[in-house]
Amino acid sequence: MITYNFICPDCSNNVLAEILTDVVLSSTAIDIHIDEDGVELDYIGDETDGGTINRYQCDHCGHVLKTESDQIINSFDDLKEWLEEHGTVQLDNDYLNEDNMLN
Ligand SMILES: [Zn+2]
Repeated sequence: MITYNFICPDCSNNVLAEILTDVVLSSTAIDIHIDEDGVELDYIGDETDGGTINRYQCDHCGHVLKTESDQIINSFDDLKEWLEEHGTVQLDNDYLNEDNMLN
């Protein structure tokens, strides 16, 4: 396994956002407040199900990842290709152990 880190070409931020559409969102609540204005839930968490990848973008500046031919990336295959070209490889313990075994 190779672990890559995203580096934004515009702002160097390293948090990648995956934007999904057609998602089912389930929110959970324990306290439910009711007054004359209506009902208000104190949400404690949420979970998503399903969804289609719309795009990948920088979580900080919104830079949208595109292929060499200027198509918006919305598949794992294209994301993999982008990271192989622009990402940085993270050297974790597994990688170092494998390396040690070869020597
Ligand atoms: Zn950015």
